[in-house]
Amino acid sequence: MTTMNAAVLDRFDDQAVIPSLGNQLGLDLGAEPLLRAKPGVFFEAPDIDLNYDLFVVAFSGGKDSWASYLRLIELGVPRSRIEMWFHDVDGREGSTLMEWPFMADYNRKLAAELGVQLYASWLVGGFEGELNKENAYSAPHKVETPDGVITLLRDTSRAKPGTRQRFPQVSADLNVRWCSSTLKIDVARRAINNQARFNGLRICFVTGERREESPNRAKYNQLEPHACDRRKGRLARHVDTWRPVLHFNESDVWEIMERHGVLAPIPYRLSWPRSSCRSCIFNSPSIWATLRRYFPGSVETIAAYERKFDTTISRDRINVMEIADKATPFNILDEEALAQAFKAEYTLPIIDRANWTLPAGAFSNVKCGPT
Ligand code: SF4
Repeated sequence: MTTMNAAVLDRFDDQAVIPSLGNQLGLDLGAEPLLRAKPGVFFEAPDIDLNYDLFVVAFSGGKDSWASYLRLIELGVPRSRIEMWFHDVDGREGSTLMEWPFMADYNRKLAAELGVQLYASWLVGGFEGELNKENAYSAPHKVETPDGVITLLRDTSRAKPGTRQRFPQVSADLNVRWCSSTLKIDVARRAINNQARFNGLRICFVTGERREESPNRAKYNQLEPHACDRRKGRLARHVDTWRPVLHFNESDVWEIMERHGVLAPIPYRLSWPRSSCRSCIFNSPSIWATLRRYFPGSVETIAAYERKFDTTISRDRINVMEIADKATPFNILDEEALAQAFKAEYTLPIIDRANWTLPAGAFSNVKCGPT
């Protein structure tokens, strides 16, 4: 397990210790108002009281969502109290612009192998539909539930039509990095708010961010009330967000994967340092170059949209083809993983203790993550 470094300890002092001391003593100890401790908010909470009826794990199919799930298992949470939620970035209407083709089936199969319930949810039309939106209302969401797929329409009496027609910007600000908010956070929020089965329950919403990933994530609280928390309201729905691997470094993640024999998901086997959308806006030059070499057409399609909307993903106004020109592609040696990367059906093993190995993408110095 990682030891807390000095910077984290300083922030912990600022955000938790000083304000709470002040509260106890009735003093103003000078902490910034925004940093004051709030009820139920904990900057450091690697271990928590697990007294929840349900744990909802936001599961992308990458190593950090795996590590989050495995931590729950190591802490003794029964599988019957866990649900995995997979937000399908491309939707299920035919677009293949962003996501790895096998990812939906990989998640379906791993959940079946583990004996855990998986529910998918998505914005109708996915990333590509939202990218093309022109003077239109936002599309509905679709959410798998125990009673089948529900459709969550928009309230057009309150919403206004909008135009997107530009790629999300590489930023920590979710207003301009619209993919995370529109295709994941908002979908989960509506999936919680529109299912009566959650009323009266204590729900722990589990996500896999890690402080090591970015300066912005280093500031995240580890436990806090979720935006959908209504514990004091008529619905009596208690929802916390817990980030059980926020304090993990990359070694911790691979170690927990190895302890459980979870084989590295395909992107890491192809040398990717992260498993995100295949065409993620955070892709490094070497990843764009690798995509262009091994996945013909994938980068060209993104570049065509950049031209169409006269907006590049890069803030430097360099299109993805020019970015790919700047780097050397990875040399992918894992032919089995490469063959799987093109298929929608996932056919490789998921858990195999005897053949566990670190993938080519582990501990990579290629930078391609959130800011
Ligand atoms: S993985 Fe990348 S492109 Fe996909 S939703 Fe997240 S930030 Fe956006």
